[in-house]
Amino acid sequence: MLDTYKHKGMRRQLIEELHKKGIHSQPVLDAINAIPRHFFLDRVFTEQAYSNMAFQIGAGQTISHPYTVAFQTELLDLKKGDKVLEIGTGSGFQTAILCQLGAKVYSIERQKDLFMKCQPIFDHFRFNPKLKFGDGYKGWPAFAPFDKIIITCGAPSVPQDLVNQLASGGRMVIPVGEGKNQEMLLIQKEGDTVTSRKLGVFSFVPMLKDTAK
Ligand code: SAH
Repeated sequence: MLDTYKHKGMRRQLIEELHKKGIHSQPVLDAINAIPRHFFLDRVFTEQAYSNMAFQIGAGQTISHPYTVAFQTELLDLKKGDKVLEIGTGSGFQTAILCQLGAKVYSIERQKDLFMKCQPIFDHFRFNPKLKFGDGYKGWPAFAPFDKIIITCGAPSVPQDLVNQLASGGRMVIPVGEGKNQEMLLIQKEGDTVTSRKLGVFSFVPMLKDTAK
């Protein structure tokens, strides 16, 4: 797939739109500007890849809106070398943004088809996230604790296993709510103290238990 001047131009417009909508972190905007989103989508969506829209990515799942990716990433407040756990690899776009920002990424996906599809695109960018086919509710204890945890599907409640795997001083960004809409929560941990802030309403596909057959 090619990243043409036209795509780059559309991407710059998207960055302006995200900035106007309240995304101010320059590293986050730069990362979104650096990664061609159309590489993560079916070819039929190439022309629309830089509009602030979600698209089907197979297995009944959707790639998140660029604004949602930007919003969640900004809230993580990433530092280079942060160990980040992502739940819901999906298309791999959010994963790539985290890699572009210099994070060490561990990403879990419960849909086999989507899990299988991502590796070539990470190879293309020479990104090296660790990918796992499994149930994100359980996290990835072998690599815990994580400096940051991002959940890209709507959880019915905050999974305690994920809170346990968050490092002291760490941040978790998770959309919580059953039904169509979820409240974005920023969870921060300092020693044994865990605090939570509500930061707006979003709409995600649900976080489901166990792996799909
Ligand atoms: N970050 C992705 C979002 C994809 S949608 C992107 O922008 O493309 C959310 C993803 O979470 C879907 O791929 C879905 O299969 C996955 N998911 C849902 N429940 C899960 C669970 N329990 N563990 C891991 N992944 C899960």
